[in-house]
Amino acid sequence: MKLPIYMDNHATTPVDPRVFEAMRPYLTNVFGNSASRNHSFGWEAEEATEKARKQVASLIGATSKEIVFTSGATESNNLALKGVAEMYAEKGNHIITAATEHKAILDTCKRLEKHGVRVTYLAVQQNGLVDLNQLRDAITDKTILISIMHANNEIGVLQPVREIGKIAKERGVLFHTDGTQAAGKIPVNVLEDNIDMMSISAHKMYGPKGVGALYVRRRNPRVQLTAQMDGGGHERGMRSGTLNIPGIVGLGEACGIAQAGMAEESKRMEYMRDKLKDRLLASLDEVYINGTMEHRLPNNLNVSFAYVEGESLLMGINDIAVSSGSACTSATLEPSYVLKALGAGDDLAHSSIRFGLGRFNSEEEVDYVAGKVIDVVKKLRELSPLYEMFKDGVDLSKVQWTAH
Ligand SMILES: *Cc1c(COP(=O)(O)O)cnc(C)c1O
Repeated sequence: MKLPIYMDNHATTPVDPRVFEAMRPYLTNVFGNSASRNHSFGWEAEEATEKARKQVASLIGATSKEIVFTSGATESNNLALKGVAEMYAEKGNHIITAATEHKAILDTCKRLEKHGVRVTYLAVQQNGLVDLNQLRDAITDKTILISIMHANNEIGVLQPVREIGKIAKERGVLFHTDGTQAAGKIPVNVLEDNIDMMSISAHKMYGPKGVGALYVRRRNPRVQLTAQMDGGGHERGMRSGTLNIPGIVGLGEACGIAQAGMAEESKRMEYMRDKLKDRLLASLDEVYINGTMEHRLPNNLNVSFAYVEGESLLMGINDIAVSSGSACTSATLEPSYVLKALGAGDDLAHSSIRFGLGRFNSEEEVDYVAGKVIDVVKKLRELSPLYEMFKDGVDLSKVQWTAH
C-alpha cells in the first residue's frame, strides 16, 4: 500500500489506464479534425467521435444524435439552463431547482435571475431529498424547466429523478438533471427516468478532465436549445468549436468501461464504504451520517464527528486525501451550504468529512483509513473540553457561555 491514499473521488478520478490507451493514438498520429469532410484524416476523427457518441448514449439509454459534446459538466449545465431559458422565453420565465445543487447550477441560476428569470430554490428534507409535494406546488404556468441533480457531490444522496421527471412531464415542463456523479456509477436510463436533459463529465468517471456531454432529448418532447457558443455550428448547432477528439474518445471509453463493470464495481464500492462506516460507528460515539443511507451512491460516505474541528482532523489524517465540509467551497472557511441545507449546525458542518471511494481503492486502504480516522478523532477528543463536558453529562445547549 502506498501513501498518500486518494479517497476524494467526487472531486475527480484518476484516468483509467484503458482510457488512456484508447486516447493515445488521437494525441499522436491520428490528429484530424472531424469537421474535415474531404480527406481520410477528417474521416478517421469523425469515426472516432461517432463511436464515442454511441458509447456515451448507450450508458444512459439515449441515441447518438442526442449527445452534445462539451468541455465538462459545468458547460453542460450552463448550456441546458441558459439554452432553455433563452429558447423558451416566450413560454415562461420560471425555473425550479434545489438548494443543494452544484455551484455550476446555482451560479447559472443567479446569472439568469439578473436577466429576468425567476428561480425557485427548493429546500431539502433532513435526509437530503427534495419533497415532491413542494416541487408540485412550486410549478406555475410560467415554469419552463426543473433542474434537480441525480446524485449529490457532497453527500451522495440520490434524488427521486424518475418521479420528478414524471411530474415534469405531466405538467409540460422540461426536466434537466446534473448527472455528473451518477453517470457510470449507478444505472441511468433517460427514457425510464423521464429525463429530458442530462449533464455528465468524463473526469468524474475515470476519463480525462475538460470533456463532458449534455444529453438532449430528440423525441417526446424534442428539446430545443439556444446555443451559447457561436462558431462553426458543430454538434448540430448546439455547441460550436472544434471537437476535442482525444477527450471525447476518452469519455466514450470511460462510459464503455463503466457500463460493462457497473454491477460488480458498485457492489465492491458498497462493501468497502459500508466497512468504513461500520468501523467508524463501532469505535466512535457522536458520529453523524449526513444524508440518507437508503438512497445513496455506493461510493459515498459523509460523516460529522462532533467535538472535533474539521481542519484539525484533516491535518491529523494528512496522508489521506478527503474533503471536509468547510474547505469545500473555494478557499473560504464557510461551512458547506449542502450540509447547512440539511439542517446541520455550523459545528457539525465544520466537523464533517466526505469520503469518496473509487475504482482504484483497495480494501487495505479502507482499513488504514478507518484505523487512522478513529485514532485521530480519539486523540483530538482527549484534548476537547467540550467532549469532556459532554461525557460528564453536561447539557451543552444549556451552558451559558461568556460572550467575547
Ligand atoms: C464535478 C461536478 C460538476 C462540474 O463538472 P466539470 O466537468 O468539472 O465542469 C458539476 N456537477 C457536479 C454534481 C459535479 O460533481
